[in-house]
Amino acid sequence: MERTTAQWQAADAAHFLHPFTDFKALSAKGARIIQRAEGIYLWDSDGHKILDAMSGLWCVNVGYGQRALIDAAARQMAELPFYNAFFQTATPPAIELAEVLAEVTPPQFRHVFFSGSGSEGNDTVVRMVRRYWDLLGQPERQVIISRHNAYHGSTMAGASLGGMGGMHAQGGLPIPGITHIGQPHWWENGRPQGLSREDFGRVAAGWLEQKILEIGADKVAAFIGEPVQGAGGVIVPPESYWPEIQRICDKHGILLVSDEVICGFGRTGRWFGCERFGFKPDLMTFAKGVTSGYVPLGGVMVGERIAKVLIERGGEFNHGYTYSGHPVACAVALANIALIRQLKLVEHVHDDVGPYLAAQFQGLATHPLVGEVQTCGLMGALQLVKDPARGTPFASELEVGMVCRGHCFANGLIMRAVGDRMIVAPPLVITRAQIDEMMLLIRRCLDLTLADAQQRGWIG
Ligand SMILES: *Cc1c(COP(=O)(O)O)cnc(C)c1O
Repeated sequence: MERTTAQWQAADAAHFLHPFTDFKALSAKGARIIQRAEGIYLWDSDGHKILDAMSGLWCVNVGYGQRALIDAAARQMAELPFYNAFFQTATPPAIELAEVLAEVTPPQFRHVFFSGSGSEGNDTVVRMVRRYWDLLGQPERQVIISRHNAYHGSTMAGASLGGMGGMHAQGGLPIPGITHIGQPHWWENGRPQGLSREDFGRVAAGWLEQKILEIGADKVAAFIGEPVQGAGGVIVPPESYWPEIQRICDKHGILLVSDEVICGFGRTGRWFGCERFGFKPDLMTFAKGVTSGYVPLGGVMVGERIAKVLIERGGEFNHGYTYSGHPVACAVALANIALIRQLKLVEHVHDDVGPYLAAQFQGLATHPLVGEVQTCGLMGALQLVKDPARGTPFASELEVGMVCRGHCFANGLIMRAVGDRMIVAPPLVITRAQIDEMMLLIRRCLDLTLADAQQRGWIG
């Protein structure tokens, strides 16, 4: 039976505890109820049309309503809705997907370990790198180095690898053997004077070497990072950063892990973010875009350096998930990858809409609220500041980002606020005309936010 928005909200508040949510605040306000979607648009329970500039949660790469994915799920559910991959069994969709992933990922990857999500994939990374060093007779290599303001998921290992202080504060994290260095975030690091961005990239990578020397290289198992930090605010590193990270990992024999949960499957204009930034990881976590979010699936691409040791040395790897290689999820992933290829979405981002988005975002650089603009493929960020010339931030308690996000919602645009950084990551199928439409909405919301800031005396 159809319910009214108020009825949905009441039932929601009565029973549903949402992720990353202040339960009390939400139940006072009522959730937005999203009912259907097509292409890059959503419709809420009041019939409002909303441009989804965040691809759901960075995942709906092929857009909503793609028949090929829907049919693949229905067909596979009818044929074989579930069987596991434990006990020396496998299903055709899981085998085929493993094969196709070996094709679309960089050449060092011939093997995959499936999980149900990105967080689980990163749990697998922790287990697997430690297993690798154990098998090589170096069990003291335990420490995994990550970065502040990284996001690697919300399980105990995922949240520990992540560098979100708020998450560590709840639950006694990080777990032992995980440590963090600074992020390659020009703005947060005070736009160091007398240092070019490229010099800053090398300095930020150098923090890894400092940490390795501090711990002792013989105790370090791996370094993990997102090619572009997503949830942290679309932080695009200087071009010098990743090659230098690679050099440092190679020098000390440390495994390099790329968390491609957002950057994978075309988001950066290449199939994977490591290809965009020119580095060669040993492990690669994926999720989100692998199925365009239509069903949950994640996993870890395992480089030959590691796969060879795991396979040749023998012995059971005591790890896995009920849904590792879930046939329906794998069938949808196969249809999704086939569609990305058929529609040439990676090329579409690289040659057409990626550069177009970059040019449009640059046009916002002179807006009186905007201190920094960054884009990479189909990701973009706008740093909102009180005084762009001086780079003076707003006081954080003003929550300017939330004010701007409120205007976005009210004007039919989903844009995310990370502190005072406004970010987008639209579906890869977006057209230039739709980017124009998105930019009009973004401009309008920035102007409304500016008017608020002036009226409340936050500026000038
Ligand atoms: C979303 C995300 C994860 C976690 O994935 P889940 O499917 O939510 O568990 C891990 N790493 C990165 C980079 C992400 O963006």
